[in-house]
Amino acid sequence: MPGTKIVRGLPGGTNTISNSSTFSGWLESTGLDEMLLNPCSCIWGEEPPPPPLPGERRRPQANGKNARNVVVTEEPESGIFGLASLFGGKTRTQTTVQAVEPKGSSSAFSFWQHKSMTLLDLYSDQGEPSERCGDINFSIDYDFNTQTLKLKIIQGKDLAARDANGLSDPYVRITLLPDKKHRLETKIKRRTLNPKWNETFYFEGFPVNKLQNRVLHLHVYDYDRFSRDDSIGELHLPLCQIDLATKPNFWRALHPQVKEKLGELLVSLTYLPSTNTLSIGLLKARNLKAKDINGKSDPYVKVWLLFGEKRVDKKKTPVYKCNLNPTFNQTFEFDVPWEQIRDCSLEVSVMDFDTIGRNELIGRLMLGARNGSGARETNQWGDMIAKPRQAAIVWHRLKPGES
Ligand code: CA
Ligand code: CA
Ligand code: CA
Repeated sequence: MPGTKIVRGLPGGTNTISNSSTFSGWLESTGLDEMLLNPCSCIWGEEPPPPPLPGERRRPQANGKNARNVVVTEEPESGIFGLASLFGGKTRTQTTVQAVEPKGSSSAFSFWQHKSMTLLDLYSDQGEPSERCGDINFSIDYDFNTQTLKLKIIQGKDLAARDANGLSDPYVRITLLPDKKHRLETKIKRRTLNPKWNETFYFEGFPVNKLQNRVLHLHVYDYDRFSRDDSIGELHLPLCQIDLATKPNFWRALHPQVKEKLGELLVSLTYLPSTNTLSIGLLKARNLKAKDINGKSDPYVKVWLLFGEKRVDKKKTPVYKCNLNPTFNQTFEFDVPWEQIRDCSLEVSVMDFDTIGRNELIGRLMLGARNGSGARETNQWGDMIAKPRQAAIVWHRLKPGES
């Protein structure tokens, strides 16, 4: 087939999560994700996968003028996993991927089935409700005879604007997690917040029990010609939660892209005008990201007082060994004249202590009137100024950053 490449996985990888606190991140860090995709070489020794059979990877054009010829095939009998796609958007590539599916109740497969609950747990927690990103309409039709899942991406409604003109150029990237390598994309619809895609994607060779271990991931992006595409919103649908026999049609709200979770910190801020004292209470942290191979961290918190850009004073808590939910209960006081309370800020870094090598940053916050690391940070500073002598206490999500 001219123009067909045989590769393992798709180029790019711009959307990978290297986070050992997520299941997929853990899979990546252990190499098991590779193993699950390529169990032939990883588990069953040297036997190479048979070559793809000519003509097997393409499916005839689906009916309908707008239907796309985008196909994923899996053939457990012949041991071929193939994908052929005509990509919309920037990448217009035809790709064939070879890998081998474990046969019968192999160890990898049963391992996988045990993990399905973890997958569910992972994707059912979408964090705090926040900005509206819009809705997406899609339908699922499963053919039990051919073991083919037909996914139709129909339209989007009231999508969030990600361009300066108040519009977006939306397209949908589709994956069946945990497999992140085989990505399919719809066409880009220009300058609209209510795109009509009407494109159909086929996932062949997926018996029901296999589908039930997969999570449909729809990620809507705004195409940008001169910069990295912006995320509009995403959606995770564990396929074990839907009744495939009913040919369901969905309208679902997109949620903001799930970012890497570093943990949270409970912070109190108090200002005493009579003594020019700014107090920060580091109360406790929860769900800190593990930085050590034992799956834990050894957290402590470092606080810098800054005037403008200049760091002027530093305090540190003790180290709490092997603890992802430490209670620090430490208060630090800094001298800050009332006139300067709006010009100063506190840089709070939650660090992982390491006996060998440099201590690592887990996550940070910037608390200040002007340069807070987020709205909650700036609001807390404002509350502290508005109500002197009273503690403003807020849970913050730690942000990534350089240590
Ligand atoms: Ca944009
Ligand atoms: Ca754009
Ligand atoms: Ca450590």
